[in-house]
Amino acid sequence: MAVETTVSTPLGPAACENDAKKLQFIEETTANTDKVQEKVLAEILSRNAETEYLQRYKLGGATDRDAFKAKLPVVTYEDLQPEIQRIANGDRSAILSAHPISEFLTSSGTSAGERKLMPTIQEELDRRQLLYSLLMPVMNIYVPDLDKGKGLYFLFIKAETKTPGGLTARPVLTSYYKSDHFKRRPFDPYNVYTSPTAAILCADSFQSMYSQMLCGLLRRLEVLRVGAVFASGLLRAIRFLQLHWRDLSSDIATGTLNPRITDPSVRDAVAELLRPDPALAQFITSECSTDSWACIITRIWPNTKYLDVIVTGAMAQYIPTLEYYSGGLPMACTMYASSECYFGLNLKPMCKPSEVSYTIMPNMAYFEFLPHKPSSMTGPNSIKLVDLANVEIGKEYELVITTYAGLYRYRVGDILRVTGFHNTAPQFRFIRRKNVLLSIESDKTDEAELQAAVDRASALLRPYGASVVEYTSQADARAIPGHYVIYWELLVREEGRWPEGEALEKCCLEMEEAMNTVYRQSRAADGSIGPLEIRVVKAGTFEELMDYAISRGASINQYKVPRCVSFPPVIELLDSRVVSAHFSPACPKWAPQ
Ligand code: AMP
Repeated sequence: MAVETTVSTPLGPAACENDAKKLQFIEETTANTDKVQEKVLAEILSRNAETEYLQRYKLGGATDRDAFKAKLPVVTYEDLQPEIQRIANGDRSAILSAHPISEFLTSSGTSAGERKLMPTIQEELDRRQLLYSLLMPVMNIYVPDLDKGKGLYFLFIKAETKTPGGLTARPVLTSYYKSDHFKRRPFDPYNVYTSPTAAILCADSFQSMYSQMLCGLLRRLEVLRVGAVFASGLLRAIRFLQLHWRDLSSDIATGTLNPRITDPSVRDAVAELLRPDPALAQFITSECSTDSWACIITRIWPNTKYLDVIVTGAMAQYIPTLEYYSGGLPMACTMYASSECYFGLNLKPMCKPSEVSYTIMPNMAYFEFLPHKPSSMTGPNSIKLVDLANVEIGKEYELVITTYAGLYRYRVGDILRVTGFHNTAPQFRFIRRKNVLLSIESDKTDEAELQAAVDRASALLRPYGASVVEYTSQADARAIPGHYVIYWELLVREEGRWPEGEALEKCCLEMEEAMNTVYRQSRAADGSIGPLEIRVVKAGTFEELMDYAISRGASINQYKVPRCVSFPPVIELLDSRVVSAHFSPACPKWAPQ
């Protein structure tokens, strides 16, 4: 076997020849940010020149930035909905893209309660795969010998549907895992998973998780990294182990697979590994039956060098829990992506979560940046958008993209802060997603949705002569799965009566029914969000909350009740005033779109 020698690159030492090529690609692309961006825009505009959308804005075949910026409006999903609906209904003409729309990617962002449908084209898979192929070469710079073992990754597919016109609609990761790009990926010693592909592709989430966990346990000493896409996914896996370790260790003891695993391809894949191993079963039993689950990851998978999970943005709430289960292993946030487009990667993946910056790769799409002024009343079209190469360190921007698949000047809704540059490519800290109040997993609930849910649920209190006078909320991620907590201060009229517990439980379920489809799917199909809880607080609590805010410098005139709280002293204050707590007694209704 040839002995690989490390090759030095400006990013660091490459682990092998292939890595060196990938790192060189990053260097070249980031060294020529503006040129690459100009070329990307020209390619997108020229290939789509005849589309209905570009014709409508009379671009006249121009492919330069000036014409593009002068003629095309900055848009949101709602602006594009008529076009998207036509494509979904079966109109195959070149509406947004000259290339045929191959499928819709269903975003976790919603519009009117439903997942946004992002049209995509076949070749976008190549672009996504290209970004994936850069991740391990960067990681190999910082963590040696990842080719000496495997990655235990909990990866899942989700339900897919067809649009009225017959196009498949599914999440971007489901599309990727089901593609030949993933299924027939060439062997890469640095990227070997313990999970058989059949287990990842099993649509039944219990069978998929069970078999992935089982294979991870069987190969526990080979595991060098443990991960999931988002932190919430990895915590779900830990919770699953808490609930099912007895069955898992019994399978290992006897060498027979639990009959709940019925998918033949999963059974076949697991059968290749599963042999009676009483010693391993005994080990798992003794580790999992201890009272404390501190460091459970490193106890079971002792060779784990890092966790591979996104803990930036809404996922930051899970950092303390992951630290507890992993004994403080590094958490690598490797990439930043969305259904609309994959954006970029973290060139220092072993940095602290609070220091993560993503380098947007200039070849992925054409990127513009809307200077972010939270209270600005100026419309986006009157503010000048800044190009990728020209953003300024320290400033915050909203990301606007133009993609090969046919989104033009589309506002993604993410707010990013520039932290530095790699060559001429800027690096961004993910600050937040606009308008998201509550998030446990991929769900994103905004203020209007929460208000509508409270309105709908509080209508159930009318027969009691009761109403909700004030409310706020919290995403409670302390237990797994996390859940929404809504604090209610109630007013019961003189002739009314206090609603009994059962009525308040119904209010919990009513709120859940009012939530968007991503929330309901996470509750009903995935079990990744726990039952919604209403905590009724004493009369006067929200006045105390205001007093507290004012004592900390808030203006009395401008004070507004925060509709979501995360500051621990405020949560403590609210919790100390709770008179009763009620949980949703059932799952809300959900069916694929
Ligand atoms: P979706 O389209 O459902 O895949 O969601 C994409 C969104 O997830 C992005 O626009 C971000 O708001 C969020 N997201 C993706 N990657 C990251 C990351 N690395 N850190 C923080 N948020 C992320």
